[in-house]
Amino acid sequence: MHAFACPNCQRPIHFEARLCPHCGATLGFDPMTDAFRFLADEATLWRDAQGETRDVVVCANNDDHAICNWLVEPDEPSHLCRACRHNRTIPDLAEPSVPPRWARIEAAKRRMIHTLLKLLLPLETKAEEAPGRQGLAFDFLYDPAAEKEGRPQVMTGHDSGLITLNLIEADDAERERTRAAMGEPYRTLLGHFRHEVGHHYWSRLVENDPSALAEFREIFGDERADYQQALQNHYNGDSNVVWTEAYVSYYATSHPWEDFAETWAHYLHMVDLLATAGSLELSLQLPEAPDSEEIEVRFDPYTASAATLVRHMEPLAFALNCMNRSMGQSDAYPFRLSDAIVAKLAFIARLVAANRQATPPLSMSAEPLSA
Ligand SMILES: [Zn+2]
Ligand SMILES: [Zn+2]
Ligand SMILES: [Zn+2]
Repeated sequence: MHAFACPNCQRPIHFEARLCPHCGATLGFDPMTDAFRFLADEATLWRDAQGETRDVVVCANNDDHAICNWLVEPDEPSHLCRACRHNRTIPDLAEPSVPPRWARIEAAKRRMIHTLLKLLLPLETKAEEAPGRQGLAFDFLYDPAAEKEGRPQVMTGHDSGLITLNLIEADDAERERTRAAMGEPYRTLLGHFRHEVGHHYWSRLVENDPSALAEFREIFGDERADYQQALQNHYNGDSNVVWTEAYVSYYATSHPWEDFAETWAHYLHMVDLLATAGSLELSLQLPEAPDSEEIEVRFDPYTASAATLVRHMEPLAFALNCMNRSMGQSDAYPFRLSDAIVAKLAFIARLVAANRQATPPLSMSAEPLSA
């Protein structure tokens, strides 16, 4: 996503900020204008960088649990922001380990929702659901007894617009243990959200569109293959699908639905990374590059073709990994994109373009864009 500035002191702030680390102003993110506001005039008015006010209040999850930094219209019946109003179940906050884990989950979810809003994708809650307009909801579940006994717990997954996430995924040690046990190069809360919401958009945008479905089957395979059996084969190591360069991850080989969700997540990774690079006006010069051209993101990643995204992603990923290695960290972007993966990403970019909503839920004007 693009970088933000404190509307009071104009210094850079992160998307998660609730207080400006420089001037101490109380901050709130306004999804309608895609910018931060600060609380001014004896904490009565939310002003933007130009001093303009708008009638907004803090999300109820900020008021009640200090867990959200988004603003909401005062007449929104749920008093919850564009991200929080999709929650159906939250875990029992009386359990001491729950609030910090839930806070991490919500922070990752807000980043994912922000990208969906910028992509102008349809995004309804379950209350707004109508035929052909499946709503999106979240169940964040925790079983403390199961965690203590090390028993299998709640499964993270998707069913008809309902995303279930096991709270334990917000525990760094546990998530890293699972990542290593599964041999995955990348496992994050944000990655989980991007993957699971891919299943939602498959049923929202592909399943009931005969031409999209036909194209999906040509590119990803036939999803009518027995899903439960496919997953079982995958976990037992009995799958006859070999992990080749055509799949963005090993898990993507398990079933066409998982391939789609993994590739969808990857599309969101690229769009978000390139939006960040573009707004920071990063300019890269790789050593010994065949053409000594500087690499800059001078396009809108939210509407760009997969070919454009990938062409800029490759040098950016190399630079990102170089910097991570300089800090003794593992690669931030441990992926390689083959032509077959790019073809899958192209299907997703076309699907997003075909389903862009006419009314922007976020103003697109906050970002300086050139052609
Ligand atoms: Zn400030
Ligand atoms: Zn909220
Ligand atoms: Zn999945």
